[in-house]
Amino acid sequence: MTWPALSESDILAPGHCCRCEAWVLDAVPVAVVEAGSGPGGLVSACEAHARELAAYPLAPDWLREDLAVLDRLRTEGDGRDRGNGDQPVIGGLG
Ligand SMILES: [Zn+2]
Repeated sequence: MTWPALSESDILAPGHCCRCEAWVLDAVPVAVVEAGSGPGGLVSACEAHARELAAYPLAPDWLREDLAVLDRLRTEGDGRDRGNGDQPVIGGLG
């Protein structure tokens, strides 16, 4: 199975953090509320709280996967930015 390329904005979106009880810019869906009748809903948390919630044994697997994707995107970005051995040499006694 091939997944489309994800970016951070596919996972992080402005939303309400269920722990901070505040509107945050980096909300991650952390739970799906299934209602018996009528529409269900999504529960979101800021990224810091999403990571806390993901540590619970009952956290959904997809939450850990979403956070792992975020980590991977950031790690890959850092790898590109920092280069391999072509960093400028700082210092010199000039
Ligand atoms: Zn929060």
